Amino acid sequence: MVGLVVVCHSRALARAAVALAAEMVHGEPAPIEVAAGLDETTFGTDAVAIADAVAAADRGDGVVVLMDLGSAVLSAELALELLEEDLRDRVVLCPAPLVEGLVAAAVTAASGAGRREVSDEATAAMAGKQSHLAPAAGVEPASGGGIGTGPSATFTVTNPHGLHARPAARLVAQVAGYDAEVEIRNRGTGSPWVSASSLSRVATLGALHGHELEVRASGAQAREAVDRVVALAARAFDEADAGEPAADARAEAGAGNGFVAEVGGFGRPASPGIAIGPARHPHASAPTIPDVASQGAAAEWDRIEDALATARRDLRRVRADTAREAGDAHAAIFDAHLLLLGDADLLADVRSRLGGGAPAPQAWSAATDRIAAEFGALADPYLSAREADVRAVAAQVLRALLGDSAGAPPGFGVLIAPDLTPAEAAGLDTARVAGVLLAYGSPTSHGAILARARGVPTVVGLGARVLEVPDGTPVALDGGTGEVVVAPLGPVLATFRRRAAEQASRRERARARAGSPAMTRDGVPVAVGANVGSPADARAAADHGADLAGLVRTEFLFLGRDAAPDAGEQLAAYREIADALGGRRITVRTLDVGGDKPLRYVPAAAEDNPFLGVRGIRHSLEHPELLREQLLAIVRLAREVPVSVMFPMVSTVPEVLRARRMLDEALARAGGGTPSGLRVGMMMEVPAAALKTAAFAPHVDFVSIGTNDLAQYALAAERGNAALAGLSDGTDPGVLRLIDAVCRGAGGRVPVAVCGELAGDEAAVPLLIGLGVRELSVAPRSVPGVKEAVRATVLAEAAAAAARALDLADAAAVRDLLAADGRG
Ligand code: PEP
Ligand code: MG
Repeated sequence: MVGLVVVCHSRALARAAVALAAEMVHGEPAPIEVAAGLDETTFGTDAVAIADAVAAADRGDGVVVLMDLGSAVLSAELALELLEEDLRDRVVLCPAPLVEGLVAAAVTAASGAGRREVSDEATAAMAGKQSHLAPAAGVEPASGGGIGTGPSATFTVTNPHGLHARPAARLVAQVAGYDAEVEIRNRGTGSPWVSASSLSRVATLGALHGHELEVRASGAQAREAVDRVVALAARAFDEADAGEPAADARAEAGAGNGFVAEVGGFGRPASPGIAIGPARHPHASAPTIPDVASQGAAAEWDRIEDALATARRDLRRVRADTAREAGDAHAAIFDAHLLLLGDADLLADVRSRLGGGAPAPQAWSAATDRIAAEFGALADPYLSAREADVRAVAAQVLRALLGDSAGAPPGFGVLIAPDLTPAEAAGLDTARVAGVLLAYGSPTSHGAILARARGVPTVVGLGARVLEVPDGTPVALDGGTGEVVVAPLGPVLATFRRRAAEQASRRERARARAGSPAMTRDGVPVAVGANVGSPADARAAADHGADLAGLVRTEFLFLGRDAAPDAGEQLAAYREIADALGGRRITVRTLDVGGDKPLRYVPAAAEDNPFLGVRGIRHSLEHPELLREQLLAIVRLAREVPVSVMFPMVSTVPEVLRARRMLDEALARAGGGTPSGLRVGMMMEVPAAALKTAAFAPHVDFVSIGTNDLAQYALAAERGNAALAGLSDGTDPGVLRLIDAVCRGAGGRVPVAVCGELAGDEAAVPLLIGLGVRELSVAPRSVPGVKEAVRATVLAEAAAAAARALDLADAAAVRDLLAADGRG
């Protein structure tokens, strides 16, 4: 007897389907094996489990495999590869829908039919349902319409969200390649025929998962076009995650207030705090259109074409960035946007409005409004949410049309963007931006560091879907845990509000004692400083009780301009920082550019690996004129307040010696000997340097570990690369061993600080203290919380935990250990 295998994302669903099929069989049942779910509750499919199930179901007559959707098919195909050749030849992968197909297959197999017959019966199992429903839906026969004498075919939409923007874009793009006029309609809803080469028309079909669509064509390549559409539909329009029922479940579970919660769950926490507010896409809102007369249809059309070209260029750039960072499947959303720019229906409407005397902005906005409204009117919330895509693209073109008069930035809310450059993060208006959600990015990227410095709760690495949350949708996020809820329902919102209130009162308690020095419970003082990237940061540092500025990133003075600042300008800026800190020590790091921070006015040769190239101290030594001027400003400041000067990205002792010689020259130039408060140190960011700490110790007064770069280089995981964000965790035991090596190499002769982001991770504070670190420098707003973490630490316990952590296998194990110690 032919055996059956059920491949399904859900184990519960597979078992229920098998039970249902068993009900229909009389007499001896066919063997049925289930390969479903990754465990009892986790959705997924596994090729090895499928291969085992096939082997178990085979009684010598072969096996028919029924699958649910998407990756189930891919896993089943992979399972075939894993089978012995003679068994593989007896296996049929059946395209039938799972439940109907399984019932038909079970009955047919039990009758003793061969595997081909079983598969054919299963595949035909939809026929009854189709003939039952089609007349009721009032569907015309396939040949009944305008171009209707050509070839036609029907197919069922298997994409979980139906034929939404990305699959629709794929359909339109494919159809465009044929010499044929192709039309399509939704038999399930009895929709009219629409052109398959217009994205906006296709979207009005309201085609949902499971809907049956009909396609027809006329022209020289009509047959090929229809076949291509059917083949495409069989591949779920190449949508990468079309097979994930989890997405549906998430959407349903999170739906609230009339929105579809497509993005719920966790990203990577990048800046702590709770934020609640409407989603805001930069530039999503439409600019105001001035009331000016038309210059004539031809001139106005030229304006439209120019604006479309600009928007197209911008979209292509974003698409390329997205493809590079997240892969082509995610970048495909921008194909839909690009297609909209060339949509024949839209452009015909614009032309006709121009012909009627409308100026370009008015014509464009009226035509795009019409299409957006058609989307908005669709019953399915997912498809109706595509209105936001149309409005975003429409606004983009309108801005290109209007140039500088394009109007105001988005209003108050949670900013949603692909990523945040350092400049964008620095420019965040904290009065308007309650929080930030990024599709990509990593917690140690400079954009995230700046968001943290500015106290803006941020979650990164959420994936491209977050970009599809419609403007204005309520969003709640916790930047400390990475949790994000789109369109939260009342009780969820209440939980977020309660958490926000608890955090606020904890913060207040910590703030009240932030001005006092922190020491461990057993009396070991640990200085907690602030990382400062501007005078405003320095004021925030003083405000939050920082004992010193443990890192002044001087790049803020050098980036985003056309010439370097001279010593006078630098001194004024450093003095402003020092004044804000009221005479507390400031640690000025010399210029750390190169890598992800190029200088516009210093030409640099292209590098294949800029992070491994001329950056940090290497850059300064290659451009001594810049370092000379900077050291002069620093030594002048050191005559006024206690100053530490620190060199970044040091790899070798000679680099320190050369930099120190230049410092001596600057001291001589400034006159008056060496200020008593001047200390000279280096950053430990290069693994080889960390392991050579003892060799550096005689030449420096202190070392400060930059865990962001140290982790990047130790783990060979670029710090801003979202795809690797899970890797570059400073608590990885490999990185901890390097920190341990620094502390042991320093041997108590020179103090060891940490100024990378790990220092601001409250859970990791005892670990660092246990390893021997006695100064932490963190984002200004993190100072009070980190001081509390120091006060909760007992040195002996911390040292024991640190010793255990060094022997663990990975960062996850270290974090488990820290969490257990925190509870105990
Ligand atoms: C570091 O690398 O940890 C560091 C503090 O320097 P930056 O983040 O500025 O590279
Ligand atoms: Mg660094």
